Amino acid sequence: SDTSRQELLERAKEQGVAFVNLQFTDILGMVKTVTIPVEELPDALDHGVWFDGSSIEGFARMVESDMYLVPDLSTYSLIPWDQHAGLATARLICNIYTPDGSPFAGDPRHVLTTVLGQAAEMGYGFNVAPELEFFLFHRDGAAQTNPLPHDNAGYFDVSTDQATLIRRQMVRALRSMGIVTEAAHHEVAAGQHEIDLRVTEAVRAADHTVTARVALKAIAQINGLYATFMPKPLATVNGNGMHIHQSLVDVATGQNLFSDPDDPYGLSKIARHFIAGLLAHARGMCVILAPLVNSYKRLVPGFEAPVYISWGRTNRSALVRVPRITNGRYQSTRIELRCPDPSCNPYLAYAVMLAAGLDGIKRKLPLREAAEEDLFHIDPRARGLAMLPSSLGAALDALREDEVIQAAIGPNVYERFVDAKQLEWESYRSYVSQWELERYLSIF
Ligand code: GLU
Ligand code: MG
Ligand code: MG
Repeated sequence: SDTSRQELLERAKEQGVAFVNLQFTDILGMVKTVTIPVEELPDALDHGVWFDGSSIEGFARMVESDMYLVPDLSTYSLIPWDQHAGLATARLICNIYTPDGSPFAGDPRHVLTTVLGQAAEMGYGFNVAPELEFFLFHRDGAAQTNPLPHDNAGYFDVSTDQATLIRRQMVRALRSMGIVTEAAHHEVAAGQHEIDLRVTEAVRAADHTVTARVALKAIAQINGLYATFMPKPLATVNGNGMHIHQSLVDVATGQNLFSDPDDPYGLSKIARHFIAGLLAHARGMCVILAPLVNSYKRLVPGFEAPVYISWGRTNRSALVRVPRITNGRYQSTRIELRCPDPSCNPYLAYAVMLAAGLDGIKRKLPLREAAEEDLFHIDPRARGLAMLPSSLGAALDALREDEVIQAAIGPNVYERFVDAKQLEWESYRSYVSQWELERYLSIF
């Protein structure tokens, strides 16, 4: 509206903003930015900003590559680590449009908005809270290929944790950008940390997720360290997950629709069908949630990451976990999906999770029994539990068989995503690694 446009311009002036980064995300989840001088901002707000989409990963199309960015005014924020005197910079997250004025089908934010629209028609809103795990490594030059943890601490440790100050800087930076942290702590592995974001509506949550990844890297760099969200940088210790807490709410009232205090798990029928949908599409959506060759080195037994397609209450090996609700806080009833990792595109990830859950509700899929024992110590296959894909190649094949997930991301993103990931998989498959040389060269 006119007032918020005017308010935004005044705010930028008061804050001495000199530049504005117009931000969007490519289909692989990389944040892209076009910088404009603040004098161009009124025009950008009125008419959008043209850019050539042909060199953006996954955007290129035969006929037209001109697209334009339309800033979402509600995403305005100063960039706290980019405030050099006279060069203060703000950012606005944008939606992408084609020249004929329609939303660009390859815009991940649009993909998420579309699935949310389908949920809204069924009467549902979708709330999400991600847990971001990451490592802090010593810097080793531009290439950054040597993962050397910055400390020797472990889960919740204090005495040997060198990063308490850095984590607090991270939390403050996020707060100043409107992102609320619920908790921050050292994680299990040396050099590994976690920052849990407060639950919010899904588009906002995806905006927060991409912003947090950029912010945490920037704060680490200021402290002379390197933050990485690579899913499994070290073979012998825990990898980086991005567990996603999620719930459906009444789109009109915001009332939690997952809660039923009389159910042994505190879950409503809607919640049970939603979980059944997540399990039914776990294989098909896995490549969106865990999109790298390296992601599948995290999804192995023994490191608190899921392998089997199961659900339960306390069990860290389960794919879907149901956190316990205490003191009658039914409004916070939610489920936690544990296979995603922080290398995913959160817009696409939240879109496919929602589509999977909605499919479970529409088809009234029954939820199998919970598995409460540690699945790493029984034979899950004897229990009839299916497994997540074991490689990027297998995960791509599973997506090729899942029409619900394909429809959720739309034909444009589907085609580009599968093309890019197939190339990545083939490049890896034909690569001869150090492991093979050490294992085979001298004996065969
Ligand atoms: N780092 C584990 C993972 O890869 C998760 C540990 C936890 O339960 O927080 O998913
Ligand atoms: Mg964790
Ligand atoms: Mg968790």
